[in-house]
Amino acid sequence: MNDYLVKALCFDGQIRAMAVRSTEAVAEAQRRQDTWRAATAALGRTMSASLMLGAMHKNDEKLTVKVQGDGPIGAIIVDVDAHGNVKGYPKNPHVNLPANEKGKIDVRGAVGTEGFISVIKDLGLKEPVSGQVPLVSGELAEDFTYYLANSEQVPSAVGLSVLVDNENDDAVKAAGGFMIQVMPGATEETISEIEKRIADIPMVSKLLDAGESPEEILYRLLGKENVTILEKSPVQFYCDCSKERFAAAIITLGAKEIQAMIDEDHGAEAVCHFCGEKYYYDEQELVGLCQEALEN
Ligand code: ZN
Repeated sequence: MNDYLVKALCFDGQIRAMAVRSTEAVAEAQRRQDTWRAATAALGRTMSASLMLGAMHKNDEKLTVKVQGDGPIGAIIVDVDAHGNVKGYPKNPHVNLPANEKGKIDVRGAVGTEGFISVIKDLGLKEPVSGQVPLVSGELAEDFTYYLANSEQVPSAVGLSVLVDNENDDAVKAAGGFMIQVMPGATEETISEIEKRIADIPMVSKLLDAGESPEEILYRLLGKENVTILEKSPVQFYCDCSKERFAAAIITLGAKEIQAMIDEDHGAEAVCHFCGEKYYYDEQELVGLCQEALEN
């Protein structure tokens, strides 16, 4: 089953909602970076949230979401665009912890509780726009809810979850989430009905694993009769790195640094954090980059 995101308008425009199945995208990130359970769950939740934040934008707009907590996983970086392309990595992929008191993967323990979420938006303007809020939970859904309320001024409810296979090498079985946004003019009645439904819904990843679609998850959350699906769009893991891009990054290190690579290592290797791809530059290529650095 392919990953996709749905957008819906609900309760006659009082509510906007999104749901995403990101299973394959998160599975791809897990395989490429060999993330362990807690790191997989934290990265996967951040990827799902970022996809939904990205879907609030359009065309050439891009977002970089950074979760910087004080837990063992370190920073989580996710890049997403408005076309559902997502890539991300945690600083320390090899983090696992005992299950928490609810018997679930301890995402808070991995992420930490002190720190911040920042979202940098490249909207095609001269300067990127950024918003930052402190972490309030470390479980991430609450943290993105807080981000939406405080940085975007949109009261929301966010659900995020990742199901990791206990037996099969920590592979991702299902991943996804939802985002419900309350528009101005929403009635108390509508809000309390949704709150009741949210309290009752099983984990999204379990529903996805059982074969439910993102649309069906929105129906559970909002009532099928209240939901009008507006749009359905694919999402996928995608890394746009290339040898040329890394060359440009090497040039910014400056001639002195590049000369040291030539003298000491007779070459250089760059590894993409997002996808694990390796790029090698031989001595002759480095001489060329050194020359470019001098000309800049
Ligand atoms: Zn890459």
